[in-house]
Amino acid sequence: MSVKRTYLDYNASAPLLPEAREAMVQAIETAGNASSVHANGRNARAVVENARDKLGEFAGASAAQVIFTSGATEAAQLALSPVLQVKGKDLSLDHLYVSAIEHPCILSGGRFDEGIRTILPVTGDGMLDLPEFQLIIANRSTGAPFMVALMLANNETGIIQPIKEVANIVHDAGGYLLVDAVQAAGRIAVDMSELGADFLILSSHKIGGPQGAGALVLGNKEIKPRPIIRGGGQEFQLRAGTENVAAIAGFGVAANLCTGQLDHMRKIIYVRDRFEKDLKTICKPIGNKRGPLVIIGENSERLANTTCFAVAGINAETALISLDLDGISVSSGSACSSGRVETSHVLTAMGLDKDIAKSAIRVSIGWNTSEADTKRFLEAWSSYLTRLT
Ligand code: PLP
Repeated sequence: MSVKRTYLDYNASAPLLPEAREAMVQAIETAGNASSVHANGRNARAVVENARDKLGEFAGASAAQVIFTSGATEAAQLALSPVLQVKGKDLSLDHLYVSAIEHPCILSGGRFDEGIRTILPVTGDGMLDLPEFQLIIANRSTGAPFMVALMLANNETGIIQPIKEVANIVHDAGGYLLVDAVQAAGRIAVDMSELGADFLILSSHKIGGPQGAGALVLGNKEIKPRPIIRGGGQEFQLRAGTENVAAIAGFGVAANLCTGQLDHMRKIIYVRDRFEKDLKTICKPIGNKRGPLVIIGENSERLANTTCFAVAGINAETALISLDLDGISVSSGSACSSGRVETSHVLTAMGLDKDIAKSAIRVSIGWNTSEADTKRFLEAWSSYLTRLT
């Protein structure tokens, strides 16, 4: 008999919204190639352009600033370009700065060579170390333009970064800012100009759209990266290849459902707060065998949907297997790097004890989570702890 599953891993991939699914089915049944001139092609083009409008609205940009990609990883590779086209002319950037807690798609540096990349430190609170960052930028030896890439919210801890302050520092020094808004999207406001982003990346499957769609949003359509994928002139010559019309349709609907509708976060905050309160009651330390509960980033500004917690003495990988057998899906560290048992680079950068980092479990909730779901987790977690004693 199959176990009824409880899905608490929205930061890895959120379940598909029914409205997004419906739009995808319709697109699959009716749309042709968005570049064809006949009725089916025009239909596909209308679906893509409608989604582009929705993404523009969502990010506080015009549709002409939205470039569809296969996901945020591809959008990051496209944006991380050491040569930009500014008003049709090439502009070389001499350095890339990324924070130590970035997703691997940013940490890997895109097309910037290793020799011209710097990793920026974060504080124990999981925030970019602003004074250190300011110093690094002030001490740059050249006056050449550069790029900084920083996430708006972290995928493992949910901790929100001081993007506006960073944007001011970057722009005053003549740099460009790439914001990874993948996890923040749909959870806090994501507005390009409010944030001061020159480039912004988004992923469909984190906001209830399908996997296989993402976007790079340009702060100014006159400032573009060099394309990676060349061929037909799709996506304003920046990303050649036939558009994934159905995935883009679902992405557009999901973005539209998030636009200006962050009210559901109140319910999520309520569920999260109850959950963390109960978790504290369950996780009592036992002598030197098991440490006290640590909620990572508890005192920092963080996303309402993410709880990353640790109990020293517990092995997160073993706990995940036990929870999985009980029908519960959660993560330890980020799902993109799971399968490899490595201490999280995010928690390591925050200076957390190895024992704590090794035991960290991430519970992330979203549009379809009820209190019954978090209660099921707590029951399974409690019985796991009992079995350990
Ligand atoms: N950035 C962050 C913060 C993420 O959490 C992820 C995925 O987990 C990505 C980028 C990559 O997104 P995608 O799966 O669309 O490539």
